[in-house]
Amino acid sequence: MGEMATGIAHELNQPLSAIVNFANGCARRIRLGIGEKEELVRAMEQISLQAKRAGEIIKRLRGMVTRQQPVREYADLNALVKDACALIAHDRQKLRITIELLLSRQPVIARIDPVQIEQVILNLLRNALDALGDRPDEDRHLLIETGFSSQGMAFIRVKDNGSGIAAEDLKHLFDPFFSTKKTGMGMGLSISQTIVAEHNGRIMADSLKGKGTVFTIELPASSVIAESIAS
Ligand code: ADP
Repeated sequence: MGEMATGIAHELNQPLSAIVNFANGCARRIRLGIGEKEELVRAMEQISLQAKRAGEIIKRLRGMVTRQQPVREYADLNALVKDACALIAHDRQKLRITIELLLSRQPVIARIDPVQIEQVILNLLRNALDALGDRPDEDRHLLIETGFSSQGMAFIRVKDNGSGIAAEDLKHLFDPFFSTKKTGMGMGLSISQTIVAEHNGRIMADSLKGKGTVFTIELPASSVIAESIAS
């Protein structure tokens, strides 16, 4: 994933640099009053063309994370949450974060690609750990909840009392390559959104700067009973 993203980032850089160059060139000519109309129009056409190319690259990236033959299996979201928690156990202990699990007592069954959905949960947990790093270490809490919404959707909610997200950033959270981290790729939430949408679900974020953040994933719940899954 890292290698692929680096490759794509490199590829994206070309149209983006071209756009910057053409736009700067246009601005300079207009400011100096030296640009021929035809020349400026051609440069603008190039900007549009290069932007489309960048869009195609992103579409390809999204295509890569969604398999040709989608896997759909009945799975218990509670089990996926527990698996994802086990994967972050080491970092959680190091950061002295307390996790509270408020899992539905009844299994939360959905027909999903368990690997992809676990990846989404893991992304949310990793982001929460990053956000909690700024808090005093005796006050770092993570709450993970599962259940069924009033509309009958299965949900997973991840709530942290970390750094929170500024209202302006909240609008761009799911944009590809949006990151406020020094070494962040900014693809985690974008890919997560694609995965959840392909499951006919949705992912939502709510946050208050300085207070914390809540992410909710909703997926169509399955009426299949848990016992039949084990067999
Ligand atoms: P990355 O983690 O590489 O930056 P993501 O797409 O996973 O990429 O996240 C995008 C941005 O969303 C992060 O850089 C951060 O600014 C913000 N973000 C995501 N989750 C949280 C959270 N729990 N608390 C605060 N900010 C968050």
